[in-house]
Amino acid sequence: MKTRILGPNHQDERHPAAPHDPTERSLVLELGPWEVRTFAGRFLAYFAPRGLLHIQYWHAEKGISVLSPSRLTRARYEVRATDQCTMHFANWEGVQTHLEACHGVVAPTELEAFHTESVLVSRLGESVGGLAS
Ligand SMILES: [Zn+2]
Repeated sequence: MKTRILGPNHQDERHPAAPHDPTERSLVLELGPWEVRTFAGRFLAYFAPRGLLHIQYWHAEKGISVLSPSRLTRARYEVRATDQCTMHFANWEGVQTHLEACHGVVAPTELEAFHTESVLVSRLGESVGGLAS
């Protein structure tokens, strides 16, 4: 068995690279096994005025990341399930179908996703507006 010592800034190799690295974002909500994560601080200040605001759904156990639509992903959902699987979908139903059929993972419901994204993205926008004023 291989043993590794991780320093405080060592990126865990189980974590995908940016923009899917969950450690770049803060945990704000949990939906069953899914963590909902958003940018904070300087990341948020950079992304917000560029139309890049989005949230991340992170399934820690499976290492699956889903980004909500923004300019970063050309207004599509981006699913990153493994090194070999990064997929784009125009709607949440596509995300759900892919995760269930190809990875055996149940995504949050469409209603959960809709509420989470609309509330959190507008709140993020407001918090940045508050920083600027
Ligand atoms: Zn896949």
